[in-house]
Amino acid sequence: MVRGTVLVHRRRCGKPNCRCASGGAAHEQTVLSYKQAGKTRFLMLPAVEVEQVRAATARFRAAKARVEAEGNAGLVELVARLGRSKKAS
Ligand SMILES: [Zn+2]
Repeated sequence: MVRGTVLVHRRRCGKPNCRCASGGAAHEQTVLSYKQAGKTRFLMLPAVEVEQVRAATARFRAAKARVEAEGNAGLVELVARLGRSKKAS
């Protein structure tokens, strides 16, 4: 699995005779956006890698959601078990 988000950057290259300069479609580059040491970074993805990286990021999100859900369930259980005496008033 891979942490990060696959997204498409669209940009104009700046060459005056390029199709993108005369209102045509901007250039698209698929990248992996990820944070490292508090900074957002981008990794250019070759076309052949895009689908598997996208799937790997989806696996990471699913695993993260599972861990969050289990952690919350554990917390609720612990609070229910140990927090009972505080409720009495
Ligand atoms: Zn261009």
